[in-house]
Amino acid sequence: MAKEVLECSFCGRKKVDTSLLIAGLDAHICDRCIEQAHGIVVEEATHSGGEELNSELMLKKPKNIKAFLDEYVIGQEHTKRVMSVAVYNHYKRLLQPKSDDDIDIQKSNIIIVGETGTGKTLVAKTIARMLNVPLAIVDATVLTEAGYVGEDVESILTRLLQAADYNLEKAQNGIVFIDEIDKIARKSDNPSITRDVSGEGVQQALLKLLEGTVVNVPPKGGRKHPDQKFIEVNTENILFIAGGAFDGINRHIEKRLNLQAVGFSASMKENMLEKDQMLQYIIPKDLKDFGLIPEIIGRLPVLTYMNPLDKGTLRAILTEPKNAIVKQYVKLFEMDGIELIITVEALDFIVEQAIVYKLGARGLRSLCEAVLTDAMFDLPGTETTVLKVTQEYAEEKLNKSTIKKLKAVS
Ligand code: ADP
Repeated sequence: MAKEVLECSFCGRKKVDTSLLIAGLDAHICDRCIEQAHGIVVEEATHSGGEELNSELMLKKPKNIKAFLDEYVIGQEHTKRVMSVAVYNHYKRLLQPKSDDDIDIQKSNIIIVGETGTGKTLVAKTIARMLNVPLAIVDATVLTEAGYVGEDVESILTRLLQAADYNLEKAQNGIVFIDEIDKIARKSDNPSITRDVSGEGVQQALLKLLEGTVVNVPPKGGRKHPDQKFIEVNTENILFIAGGAFDGINRHIEKRLNLQAVGFSASMKENMLEKDQMLQYIIPKDLKDFGLIPEIIGRLPVLTYMNPLDKGTLRAILTEPKNAIVKQYVKLFEMDGIELIITVEALDFIVEQAIVYKLGARGLRSLCEAVLTDAMFDLPGTETTVLKVTQEYAEEKLNKSTIKKLKAVS
């Protein structure tokens, strides 16, 4: 019987001419054809990835976006509505056909003003999760003008590339959350002149990114581009969300309102000037008075605010969101075959402690941890099938733990 000459069924190369020939059921493929085929697969995947992104985004109407946010973010109705529209418009802008008229839809970058721990980052995270786009969270305080010690603004895009696993197309459709934007405000009454300059300098540097430009970004050791010096990232379709506490901005709002409130009755004035509710009257001018440069404000056209978390909201945060803290603990105990029951009184007690110690929503987790750590240590592997946490139980555990230390968390 003649000896069969093996060859690649795709290109016809003889086995001896290949480095590797892999056998299938009744065909063979050589190393070169594998590489070529792989190239085609990757290209197709990237291509259709983009289309997938678009068609997926098309489906989300503002009401759907808001409904998704509702599952994770308690309260903050105003911001959820405003952001749903902004995100919807942002993606409508991306999907607009090449314009035959002169109407150019501008970016709807967003700025959220609100105390720390009120859910600004959570909103950004939730939107990125819903849209399935990469999210980079950066702290404005580490940014400096090029040439100074610290991170150049380009590093923001390095983070986004990392979050997108170096898929450029995904990164270019991603979301950047810039936290503590208020910390780079220009402070005219700040005695330190250098800090003043650098704050404004960073704002200037950010302008380019916010508006949409092509930036050379150092990939910083990306797996797929170890030798590449720079990746060109176009920021035109990146949605920027800035957040900040803007401590003291109430003063600016009050001042402005007082000036305009001449015609109001005293009681109306009183109502409006309720300290907690001040932020709802915020307008871009207040940001300018606080020290953001007008150009930055212009490029963050959607301005919204977060309400401080009251007792009811904190209570709801404990149990209601899809991945609420209590739900997480119930699941953890369930994995050990233990049913965790926390009484209403115990939950209220935990919320009160968060308020007393000014821990905010972030503190809720630490408080629950302090209450449940003993049980999570002792119970696994025992016969226990139910753990009932009453107010007394919670009090006892919290007294034991040095609760005051928790203050550092907020
Ligand atoms: P911020 O960015 O405003 O400082 P975060 O978004 O980081 O606040 O909020 C801190 C944590 O508090 C979140 O991870 C979340 O668990 C909880 N939290 C805060 N506000 C809310 C809210 N409105 N709804 C649900 N959880 C919230």
